[in-house]
Amino acid sequence: SAPLLAVEDLHVEFAAPHGAVRVLNGVGYTVEAGETLAVLGESGSGKSVTARAIMGLVRPPRGRVVAGAVRLRGVDLLALPEEGRRRLRGTVVAMVFQDALSALNPVLTVGHQIAELFRAHRGMSRKDAHREAVAALDAVRIPSAARRAGDYPHQFSGGMRQRVGIALAIALRPRLIIADEPTTALDVTVQAQIIRLLAEIQREHGTGLVLITHDMGVVADIADRVAVMYAGRVVERGTALEVYARPAHPYTEALLEAVPRPDLRGRRLKVIPGVPPDPARPLPGCAFRPRCGYATAACAHVPVAHEIGPGRLTACHEWERVTP
Ligand code: SF4
Ligand code: MG
Repeated sequence: SAPLLAVEDLHVEFAAPHGAVRVLNGVGYTVEAGETLAVLGESGSGKSVTARAIMGLVRPPRGRVVAGAVRLRGVDLLALPEEGRRRLRGTVVAMVFQDALSALNPVLTVGHQIAELFRAHRGMSRKDAHREAVAALDAVRIPSAARRAGDYPHQFSGGMRQRVGIALAIALRPRLIIADEPTTALDVTVQAQIIRLLAEIQREHGTGLVLITHDMGVVADIADRVAVMYAGRVVERGTALEVYARPAHPYTEALLEAVPRPDLRGRRLKVIPGVPPDPARPLPGCAFRPRCGYATAACAHVPVAHEIGPGRLTACHEWERVTP
């Protein structure tokens, strides 16, 4: 049967003063039910734009999906009228943001905001909706959920606020959760707790999870598969085991070398030299070329993503030299 989510050859451009800028150049990945896909890359690589496109939030006049499809169990979401998409958001696909505050209304209690979902989408009574809201807060392990349902967003710590954001996202039991840098603003210990919580929820409910992050270390333990993005393209894809053990793209290798390792505490982390390309000034050839230690003359031509194993993909001419 069709995968839970299939992003197919997605091309997106944004409006800019001097003409449209292409920010996605043919992004593709799939997620199955019960699976966690980590989407990795620096900011500006197109990870969040892809997520927003999946949610149907890339819209004129600011942005435009030029080509491609986003299929949920085979149904093309981009072809649905806005009303249909709105109905899917929250109920079938839900998003967790870097800062839950951006998804919360500061002047309403968190219990009220979650209860509203049940009233709007399930037609529940006030009392039933409140009970469900408390259950949702309890499901994300917020202590004294019944009491805390009466608190306002600012009364929660950063970590607890992310839990509220997750409660909001999972309340209606969506089949797919997209979490965009859900732990970036948190300290390391709390990060690990939130990642563990997402993994637990994903396992308990058989949800598909797309976990977007710039930090390969954060998701190493829970990702089933990995898609690495650079300059609006997926440059490597594979199982987490394969990609972490044997990266097949210089950019993936560089991201791995930038992961803090407890056994190497105190040692200076490698940083990836150079900066990501400006999408308004696309370079000819491979976009990673100015930063790449493996580049050859062949790299003047854009490397086409190709399979190097079952479900394993790279977009590099020199991939065989990366992990000898
Ligand atoms: Fe580096 Fe060339 Fe591979 Fe691009 S195609 S990542 S420049 S080796
Ligand atoms: Mg982002």
